[in-house]
Amino acid sequence: MKFNPDLITIAGNWKMNGHKAAAAEIEKLINLINETDANIILFPPFTLISDFVEISKSSYLSIGGQDCHHKDSGAFTSSISASMLRDAGADYVIIGHSEARALHGNDSSNVINKTYNAHENNLVTIICVGEDLSVRSEGKHYDFISKQLENAVARTSNRNNTLIAYEPIWAIGTGDTASIEDIQDMHAHINNTLKDFDMFKKGNPSILYGGSVNPKNAAQILSINNVNGVLVGGSSLDHIEFNEIIKSK
Ligand code: PEP
Repeated sequence: MKFNPDLITIAGNWKMNGHKAAAAEIEKLINLINETDANIILFPPFTLISDFVEISKSSYLSIGGQDCHHKDSGAFTSSISASMLRDAGADYVIIGHSEARALHGNDSSNVINKTYNAHENNLVTIICVGEDLSVRSEGKHYDFISKQLENAVARTSNRNNTLIAYEPIWAIGTGDTASIEDIQDMHAHINNTLKDFDMFKKGNPSILYGGSVNPKNAAQILSINNVNGVLVGGSSLDHIEFNEIIKSK
């Protein structure tokens, strides 16, 4: 389904989980979400993208890649390009996830160049930002996130091809969800910061929250001002849990 920035977005990042047998999980999920007014996206590992695209065609589920290289092709062993994701049928890509930044040494120029390349290949980008615990404990998290946004949002961005995911690193995979106040304050800060960006003159992009979202806390998080959806890791692996999050919007 084509991305609609006026709808809530529920995105699931499978990280390095899932083999071909997981197709059964996707079929069950598709049966559960046979009607929805949300953008529902799954980001399986690269090896499963083509299969999942095939299974999910003519359903409400869209498929994306978890990262891409900033070049189209070349001597970049272990990398996947945006055009390869497009070729496999993906419509979305996550850029700048904190795990990818940490594991693959993604600096800011790298992140913005990936975004350009993804847009050239007509992929909708979810750009992740988030501070670690030391930045937050020093009280520098607002400045840190502003800088990350300036360094990651490309001139080619607009609200139809870009979403921002605020994912505090200390909340990812820890069960330590950010408090309602922390989410509210940071999403307001991101919303105000993006308003000053030339490329968002016609309207701000959706801002997702990510970090230990689960069926129990999803409804409350989705009701916070300026939270336009969630990026879910662990809880997206199980079709029942992920569907509960979808239903809680
Ligand atoms: C993520 O992978 O982006 C994430 C938020 O993970 P989790 O929901 O497991 O914290």
